[in-house]
Amino acid sequence: MDRNFFDTIIDFEKQLESTQLQFRALKEFVAIMVEEREALQQENNHLRQRLDEIHEKELMIEKMRDEKLNKLDVGEGHDNLARLYQEGYHVCHVHFGSSRKEEDCLFCLSFLNKQNT
Ligand SMILES: [Zn+2]
Repeated sequence: MDRNFFDTIIDFEKQLESTQLQFRALKEFVAIMVEEREALQQENNHLRQRLDEIHEKELMIEKMRDEKLNKLDVGEGHDNLARLYQEGYHVCHVHFGSSRKEEDCLFCLSFLNKQNT
């Protein structure tokens, strides 16, 4: 057999082997990328869930704070009305703002009692 031809065959074989090695490396790389992609997707889902939970908790805390503030407002409003009554003014709907002239008003008292509960 021609020496040159034989060398060419050997070279070609080496090239094929090298290409096969490259192809195997590429296949491994793709496998790793697929695995990483799945892991990232799982982590993403997990983080999204945590975010939803945190968001829900924030909404709950906000709601609780609002309810507390509303209660405080009512309490403060009642205190102000009680003070106004003590200072001698009607706080009932019937005579609101007018002077009691030192007399107790049943409308005022029942109104304040209702506010108190
Ligand atoms: Zn009154």
